Amino acid sequence: MQTRHIGSLEVSAVGLGCNNFGGRLDASRTKDVVHAALDAGVTLFDTADIYGGTLSEEYLGRALGARRDEIVLATKFGVPYEGHPGGAAPTAVRGAVEQSLKRLGTDVIDLYQLHFPDRAVPIADTLGALGELVAEGMVREIGCSNFDAAQLREATDAVAPGAPPFVSVQNQYNLLQREAEESVLGECARAGIAFIPYFPLASGLLTGKYRPGQPVPDGTRIGSMPAERQAEVLDNATLARVQALAELAEGEGHSLLELAVAWLLARPQVASVIAGATRPEQIQANANAAGWVLSPSDLSRIDEISPA
Ligand code: NAP
Repeated sequence: MQTRHIGSLEVSAVGLGCNNFGGRLDASRTKDVVHAALDAGVTLFDTADIYGGTLSEEYLGRALGARRDEIVLATKFGVPYEGHPGGAAPTAVRGAVEQSLKRLGTDVIDLYQLHFPDRAVPIADTLGALGELVAEGMVREIGCSNFDAAQLREATDAVAPGAPPFVSVQNQYNLLQREAEESVLGECARAGIAFIPYFPLASGLLTGKYRPGQPVPDGTRIGSMPAERQAEVLDNATLARVQALAELAEGEGHSLLELAVAWLLARPQVASVIAGATRPEQIQANANAAGWVLSPSDLSRIDEISPA
């Protein structure tokens, strides 16, 4: 597995998104997925305090057990949940990290990310509180999520001398949703910030299991959505685009999944493709998908099918 960097952290190019844990996956199925990822060489695990109603952190910590030190553990804070008011004020940050450390069963979080911007709190105050956590050894690096380019620049400018900056931003980005290219990726390149794309497989649409004219497979994420939502996600134009991308990939001897992963990794700012998974076989496929290096001509053909 190739590796990339998020600040001082070395991470696998394919990571694991943990938002299925504690929701669709119980503790035992979480353990199967976590162990498959460890065995496949995945080293970045991305969760959040609110995933699975806080059970994601708990199940992940338990599944890692003694193998905790083999991985880069990323979590997020800032969204309210039962037992915590959320937000990015200094007291809230400290309360949140203490609870996450406890649930994860560890004494250090490698990447601690502000889940959403908090307009009620000056970013300098949040950065100051996070800097204290780094100084105290509770957190190694800090990052943010769902920030636009202006918010990212404001945060970079607000860092006090000698204090740690955000080393990463995590926003939605995939072959079907390319808004991040308009500004955030440019800001990442300018400021040397790592970009972590979320929904990298468009909730499974980019794995090839949803095809025009074919029934939606049972037990899948999109198959479990209410009919109205499913119809929105699987509209004809999207399915036609997905089919054209699949044909392009297959014409080159690859799968749509490989195309989705390779296309994200073609951007140097992208640090890791944190694909979610519900089964060990998916982990293996995702980990193996990072090998294809797209040529400039492949990238232009992709732009024609799914423009920015
Ligand atoms: P995703 O990675 O785009 O899609 C994951 C889903 O795709 C899986 O649950 C699985 O669905 C399916 N899948 C994965 N690998 C597959 C394979 N090889 N073959 C067939 N199907 C496969 O979506 P995501 O998990 O929601 O997003 C990734 C991560 O991003 C999350 O886990 C979370 O860590 C992060 N995230 C962050 C934010 C934020 O605000 N910062 C928001 C959303 C997500 P099935 O259920 O159908 O098996």
